[in-house]
Amino acid sequence: MRTNRTIRNCPVRMQVVCPKRWDELASTDRADVRHCAQCDEDVHYCRTDAETLTHARAGRCIAREEPDSSELPNIVLGRPALPLEITEQQEAALRLRARERGIATLLNGRLEGASRDCPECGYPVPDFRVSCYVCGRNLGRA
Ligand SMILES: [Zn+2]
Repeated sequence: MRTNRTIRNCPVRMQVVCPKRWDELASTDRADVRHCAQCDEDVHYCRTDAETLTHARAGRCIAREEPDSSELPNIVLGRPALPLEITEQQEAALRLRARERGIATLLNGRLEGASRDCPECGYPVPDFRVSCYVCGRNLGRA
């Protein structure tokens, strides 16, 4: 699957999320750390959910992979003659994109209000939420 490494948990809270990508950041002496000249912050590339939560809780910028838009099904307007066919690969890209959006939403200021972790995926679930941002599991309110 083609993916892009996008920056999350940027400490500069902006209304528009910085569109910078991992590939555009300056290399450092560590393969999994790059430097953002705009924010003067190191960005940590995360391969696992545990790494993501560790760096996010420490207030560090992180980068994660999400599917490239070329992997997603085309949006069709109108009335197609045939039922839309979505390939398994496109379904997988849609699932990954939804998961990564959930993680981004959680990291964007919602970690602090979470006193419990999701039993399904392990990510924190804010107390006011009924369902997990990341996997969608229904937990009810805390
Ligand atoms: Zn979950």
